[in-house]
Amino acid sequence: MKMRAGVLGGTFNPVHFGHLELAETAIQEYSLDTVIFIPSKAPPHKTESELVSFFHRCRMMEIACENYPMFRYDCIEGQLPAPSYTIDTLRTLKKRLGEDCTLFFIIGSDAFLDILTWKSFRQVLSQVSLIVGHRKDVDSCKMVDLALNIGYDRKKKSHWSSDWGGEDILFLDTIPVGVSSTFIRKISENDRELKKYVPLKVVEYIRDKRLYQHGG
Ligand code: ATP
Repeated sequence: MKMRAGVLGGTFNPVHFGHLELAETAIQEYSLDTVIFIPSKAPPHKTESELVSFFHRCRMMEIACENYPMFRYDCIEGQLPAPSYTIDTLRTLKKRLGEDCTLFFIIGSDAFLDILTWKSFRQVLSQVSLIVGHRKDVDSCKMVDLALNIGYDRKKKSHWSSDWGGEDILFLDTIPVGVSSTFIRKISENDRELKKYVPLKVVEYIRDKRLYQHGG
């Protein structure tokens, strides 16, 4: 049987429980065997000055995955040209993992609403099924409109199929904790608050390396 692997890309600046819950929910609702987190080296939508280094973001991801046997991380974008486009990363990953693996690209609803701005988004959808997690404060009517606009029809409650050869779009029922890395950076000097949303060992790493001081 083919392995079912979720791929969750992001800046993870820093990683938080919203990311980890999104991955866990995808594993549970769509029977995935694993989720591979891919830190984005040079995201086209974000400026580098907003980000701590790729090295630190990869290291925090490594630490966050330690307690989750079904989670992996891959810093593959370190070996690819900048900016880091999803289509290039997925193609490289697919080649590396081979035919015995079916990939599902996991994203939050805010990222889904941006899909028209992605490089070659139809090619992305031709390569992998999307698993879309709802995010607090994102209007689900907009997601339905977008799915219709890009040539998808609802087959079952959370399952959409295309009329042009794109792979399926699958929505998750469970909504992960409503937190963002932007919020984490804002509260980064408050240890007690930080520990509610970020794994303890990642908080210790942030302190040790003096990351996100003064909210930056
Ligand atoms: P920032 O606030 O810096 O923009 P972020 O919290 O949105 O960061 P990213 O690393 O950009 O985190 O997100 C990676 C992926 O995880 C995206 O597809 C995003 O939609 C999704 N995601 C992040 N946080 C959540 C959450 N709380 N619930 C559901 N999906 C989430």
